[in-house]
Amino acid sequence: MTEQGNTGSKPKSRTRRAVLFGGLGVVAAAAVAGRDEISRAWWLLPGVAKPRKEGEIDHVGAGWTAASPANWRMADRPDDYRVDRIVVHVTQGGFQSSVDAFKNPWHKASAHYIVRGDGHVEQMVRELDVAFHAGNRSMNERSVGIEHVGFVDRPKDFTDDMYAASARLAAGICRRYDFPADRGHIVGHSEVPGADHTDPGDHWDWDRYIRMVREALAASA
Ligand SMILES: [Zn+2]
Repeated sequence: MTEQGNTGSKPKSRTRRAVLFGGLGVVAAAAVAGRDEISRAWWLLPGVAKPRKEGEIDHVGAGWTAASPANWRMADRPDDYRVDRIVVHVTQGGFQSSVDAFKNPWHKASAHYIVRGDGHVEQMVRELDVAFHAGNRSMNERSVGIEHVGFVDRPKDFTDDMYAASARLAAGICRRYDFPADRGHIVGHSEVPGADHTDPGDHWDWDRYIRMVREALAASA
């Protein structure tokens, strides 16, 4: 399930877009800043925008519906933020209502992916960008958020097809950003520091999921 997140990020987001479309006048400012500051002051970075095309996706076979730009922040991962976490969520609602929520600019939340019980994967935010899903700014910046359609108290929602599709997706993320498929790096929303959410809940089979992610990784090696 998603939640309010990063309400303070909108002005910076606008600033950054202004930079992206307004030229490279900030290069000089970035050059005099310290290296550590540069790594944090992403809005000063010149030429950060990798080429993007509407509808481009990161996971082969995924569908694409764009989340409202109000529900995520443009970034240039993994160049500006290292990606080394996956956050597992459960939607607490149906597929379409989750898609609609992420398209709604007032929702203030989104995730990169929504995985359905039939194994369909819908991407809504590019992995380059920071989706607001974990309720924790630094976790959002370092993670990819995967929603699973269902309810935490309805174990039958977590189907074989869902586990398989999500495990393939997670394996691809681990491979793209070179981090291990383990419980230190693949976490539940409820485990995020400061989280007041309970998803994915007791019925999410972590042992099975991690095993399947590892199998998918091995199969693609
Ligand atoms: Zn959640």
